[in-house]
Amino acid sequence: MFVTGLALVAACASPAPVARAPLVVTKVETATIAATSTASELVARDTEDAFHALLTTTTTTVAMTTSATVAASDDERDDDSGEVLEEEVDSGVDPRLRYTCDLSDDDLTARWVKTPEALGSISLGFAHEGRLINAEQFPLGGETGAWTVVMPNRAWATAETIEYVVAAAREVHRLRPDAPPLRVNGISLKEGGWFRPHRSHQNGRDVDLGFYYATAEVPRCRACEKVMDVGANWDLVKALVTLTDVQVILVDRAVQRALRAHALSVGEDPVWLASLFDGGRNSLIRHARRHRDHFHVRFYNPRAQELGRRVAPLLAQRPDQNLRIYRVRNGDNLGKIALRNKSSIRAIQKANHMRGTFLRIGQVLRVPMRGPCTRCPVPPPVEVPERRRPPPSPAELADVPADGSGTTGTSTTAALDEG
Ligand SMILES: [Zn+2]
Repeated sequence: MFVTGLALVAACASPAPVARAPLVVTKVETATIAATSTASELVARDTEDAFHALLTTTTTTVAMTTSATVAASDDERDDDSGEVLEEEVDSGVDPRLRYTCDLSDDDLTARWVKTPEALGSISLGFAHEGRLINAEQFPLGGETGAWTVVMPNRAWATAETIEYVVAAAREVHRLRPDAPPLRVNGISLKEGGWFRPHRSHQNGRDVDLGFYYATAEVPRCRACEKVMDVGANWDLVKALVTLTDVQVILVDRAVQRALRAHALSVGEDPVWLASLFDGGRNSLIRHARRHRDHFHVRFYNPRAQELGRRVAPLLAQRPDQNLRIYRVRNGDNLGKIALRNKSSIRAIQKANHMRGTFLRIGQVLRVPMRGPCTRCPVPPPVEVPERRRPPPSPAELADVPADGSGTTGTSTTAALDEG
């Protein structure tokens, strides 16, 4: 199941001579959005959506403060505050179908109408406002002992996301067979959409991974970088960076310092490390509050994201899938929600097994729509950047003398040799 998607991606993507723009989907710190952004910076589809995004950002932060303690028990304390949102940026990339080029528009429409399940995982919208079609549940077995799924009912993802996490977990297990299994925590709900305590995690591309410790028992810790198995956690980060299409890894600065010091001590290239940790908006590894006991990892999903973008205008052709997952806001009522989303009170009640019209703020509703959604966010085409592999080590360079005189690092490498 895993191989097919990637094979297609490779086959389709390679011959496309696309004028490459620097980045298609960029991320911005939530705090920055709240403090400085304007509707135009968000480039949302209309100003209302832009302000909605802003509003969601700020109100969620307030709501999350109160729910942080609830989250602490079962979700590695991930309330996602301080997390990155995806920004809708039109990069001007050639909109040719780079990752789904095996499907013509007619093919796609026919399959969507007749056998949508045959399309595989579809990641709609954005990580912070999206949903998931044909999700796969993260394989529970972890038969090899490489991973364990903490909450199976919140471990729904795209095939690509699962493939990436499995690859990274297997790599750590290969390097460290005695390490306890990787703790695969919250990913997404089966249909995606919002769920407590996360802001993102909505379209099958965000995964929370618990730290490795010396034993399978997770210690109670505030400064978890002091008690974690730093070597195993570094191996995990390195596997994610080199073996998967990771978009961003969010983890507290204190943890980053520990990982980086360890990486330097085992001879990793300092320049490569700087590109991972110090790249500003291009950093793969970024700070986020309340991420001191787990990694929040977001992956590019070339296939599932591209399908999501192309399927979005076709949703109305399948009434069972033509729905929006909506989180109730202050001032909402069923009539208003129905009107805004081309739905009806009765349809919403039915879809949510409701008898009355009582709503509470934060409640998540499935809202069936009668026509094409004009308010659903549609991201621009995704372009997956090259993986950031470290330069080959001296040992890997066949023509380099065994005395290491041909090291690839810069002058800082000399300092490492002392350790
Ligand atoms: Zn998370």
